[in-house]
Amino acid sequence: MNKNNLEKDTLQYKRGGLQKDTYHMSDTSTWSCPLCKDESSSKHHDQLLKTERGALGVVKCKKCSLIRINPRLTNPDAVYHGKEKDYLEEFRLIIDGKKEHHRDRNYLEDLNTIAKYKPDQNPAEFLDIGTNTGSFLRLARNRKWNLTGVEPSKSLSNLAQEWWGLNIINSFLEDAKLPTLHYDIVTMTDVFEHIVNPNELLQEVHRIMKKDGILFIKVPNGKYNVFKYNVRKKLLGRGGSGSDATSDDFDAYEHVCHYTDKTLTKMLRKNNFKILETKIALPVQIPMWHKYVGQYYQYKQPFFLDWKGQIGRTSLYHASKIERLIRGGSIGHLAPNIICIARPT
Ligand SMILES: [Zn+2]
Repeated sequence: MNKNNLEKDTLQYKRGGLQKDTYHMSDTSTWSCPLCKDESSSKHHDQLLKTERGALGVVKCKKCSLIRINPRLTNPDAVYHGKEKDYLEEFRLIIDGKKEHHRDRNYLEDLNTIAKYKPDQNPAEFLDIGTNTGSFLRLARNRKWNLTGVEPSKSLSNLAQEWWGLNIINSFLEDAKLPTLHYDIVTMTDVFEHIVNPNELLQEVHRIMKKDGILFIKVPNGKYNVFKYNVRKKLLGRGGSGSDATSDDFDAYEHVCHYTDKTLTKMLRKNNFKILETKIALPVQIPMWHKYVGQYYQYKQPFFLDWKGQIGRTSLYHASKIERLIRGGSIGHLAPNIICIARPT
């Protein structure tokens, strides 16, 4: 993708977050691989795949294969501390009940998966970590679950409470001091890839969960991002490493770890969870409004505005199920998102 197209497509539109086009080394920190915890993890142990937005490196650990951003933004969560009025502009028609959120079908798939383990006609303590504006949790309100969200951004916490009447704790999970052995359902939907201390977070989740509780995690598939990047680089001559790296294949400013089914389940087992199920989740049909109106609205667009993208994502999703069969059950490069259900041991 050339720079002009990139700016037109992804950078010069209005949305609520505070992400910048370019980051400098002073915005970043280096960190060792959180999966193998190799303290000697350094350039010798990391294979550089590409750089994004200036100083952010996409690397693969040579020891355990976890893909992470190193150097990464020191405080990647700060991207979410935007102004409430800007988020309001992004979501206005959804709040007014005039439009669906473009992720609603993904969220409903997630809730139906959870309900297979914890039926929604039974009361349950439900905790959502990284609630954002509450777009996911709002769809769980008509069930018998008692919903709580934890969200570190003050502006997003306020909006989730104001728009949907949700019970939100404005905090990082580790600082919220939630009760031990309390929750039947804990969810992290499009959240775990943002977490810079996954071991510590999972240990805290383990402490607050009931023994028969379920942990639901959904993340983008790291292998899919590598596939997407390779297609762009090799077939279309886009992307690349170094200062010419302009495509956001890995969303490196916010997604600090890129899990595969193998690295995600390994991370969970290491922190005393047993895996009940892994599955391929539906693709997200990203809204394209900004291409036409310069505003990043969160509601879905008509099919004709992005028919190539929608058909492409749907085809890859179906192909990924066949790919999984061929690979003997492991999730391959064509799956857009991975869901993992786990239980504390
Ligand atoms: Zn590693």
